[in-house]
Parts: sequence; C-alpha cells; structure tokens
Amino acid sequence: MRGSERLIGREVRRVAATGSTMDDVAQASREGAAEGLVVSADAQTSGRGRHQREWASEAGKDVLASVLFRPRPAIAGEIGMLLALSIAEVVEVVCGCDVRLKWPNDVRVDGEKVAGILLESEQGPSGLAVVAGIGLNVNSQMRGVSPDGVAAVSMSELADRELNRDEVLEELLGRIDGYYAEVRAGGTVAPAWRSRLETIGQRVTVTFVRGDGAESSVAGVAEDVDESGRLIVRDENGRAWPVAAGEVTLRE
Ligand code: ATP
Repeated sequence: MRGSERLIGREVRRVAATGSTMDDVAQASREGAAEGLVVSADAQTSGRGRHQREWASEAGKDVLASVLFRPRPAIAGEIGMLLALSIAEVVEVVCGCDVRLKWPNDVRVDGEKVAGILLESEQGPSGLAVVAGIGLNVNSQMRGVSPDGVAAVSMSELADRELNRDEVLEELLGRIDGYYAEVRAGGTVAPAWRSRLETIGQRVTVTFVRGDGAESSVAGVAEDVDESGRLIVRDENGRAWPVAAGEVTLRE
C-alpha cells in the first residue's frame, strides 16, 4: 500500500441505496470533487451497463462503485484497461481461478461474466472527467440468473465461500491506485491488458448501434488490438476493421 500518496479511494462515500453511482460521481465531479473520489452503494435502483442496459445485483451483496478520474487526455484510454486488469487480478487472487477479459472489458471466468465496467466522460471547465463504474459480483447468486441471457457468476460462487465485500473493494481500489500511478508516471498497462484478452483469435460479430437505434454488423476474426485498444476485426473479404470500445457490442 502506498500510504499517504494514495489518490484513488482517498475518499470513499458509502451509500445504502442510490439510483446509480455513475450519476452520483458525475454530479460530485460537476461540484468540483477531487480526483479519486469513490461512491460505493449497497444497492442501485437503476444500475446500468453500456447502451443503457441494466446492471443486476442483490442488495448488500456486491461491489457497485464508481470512481472519479481527472486524467490528462493522453492517458484516458488506459483507464478501462487498468480497471479491467485490477478486477481480474483481485478475482484471481481471491478465487484462485484463471480470469480472462472479453474485449473490451468484461471480466470473465470460463465464459461467465463476473464483472462489468462502464466509462462515461465529460469535458468540464477544469478539464476531462472520467467516471468509471464497476459492477463486481461478490456474494450475489448469479449462476442460473443470466441477466439478459449473459452467463454470469459471482466471486463467492467461484471461491465456494462468502466473501467480505469491503475487503474486496479495498483490495481493488489499492490495485487501481497503483496502476493509475504507473500510468500517470508514463507507464502503460496495455500489454498486461492485452495478454488477458480471450477475444483475440476468435470469430466475432461486432454490432454498431447508432444514436437512432439502427444497427449494422461486421463478422470476422478478431486479429489483435492496436495501441489505443481498438479491436482489429478482419472480415471475410480480408478487410481490417478497427473498432473502438465505445461504439460496439461484440458477440462471439
Ligand atoms: P457485452 O460486452 O457483452 O456487449 P456490455 O459491455 O455492453 O456487454 P456491460 O455494460 O458490462 O455490458 O453490462 C451490461 C450487460 O451485462 C447487461 O446487458 C447484461 O447482459 C449483463 N449483466 C447485467 N448484470 C450483470 C451482472 N450482475 N453480472 C454479469 N452480467 C450482468
């Protein structure tokens, strides 16, 4: 632990129930909250994932938290990577299992999703603010629940015992803090993130959803990621499509 230098989680606001910790941190950011603020909730009435999908959780059982970053723009692209990596490591250490990432940042064990990450950015008067949401299944019963048809699992199901949610959050924030310090100092987590991506080499379909809800898809093989984390999908005509995380949904 890096003691007094700590940035991420220097202030953790715990709330019993809220609409979404994403909205709470975005609001605090607009009011001038310092970088590193965390809002952690027992329950959310409108927890969400990307594209306004729902995030499911049983009250009091899981980590539902959002973190405020104020990165210089050049390192903003590392935030999703370092969060996914930090979560993967915590799950691996606590549960003793092999944790992989479905591009860009679903955290999975044997194809079951244990955590999701949501990133929302806002340009304010004092620069860029990135709110990063973490939904990590800790003690919920997830197997057999399959929210929106997605196979899910919790850490307690993986570890076969009840876990201390506060300890999991603390461990996680420590890792996020450490990686963010490395990135701020000029380092990168991209190679470590890439090495956990199970998507590379797989056949995938990426679906672009436009603002008006219209969809278009590209099917191909996920060849690699580029230096900014975009997935390179090669279609059957040999054309390479670089796809950015914010834009698409990916099916294997
Ligand atoms: P994908 O990468 O599969 O397209 P996504 O990145 O769009 O998913 P997220 O934003 O991480 O998804 O989360 C929303 C989705 O995650 C929901 O549509 C649902 O399928 C799934 N989900 C919702 N709650 C949970 C949960 N507690 N554990 C695992 N998965 C969940």
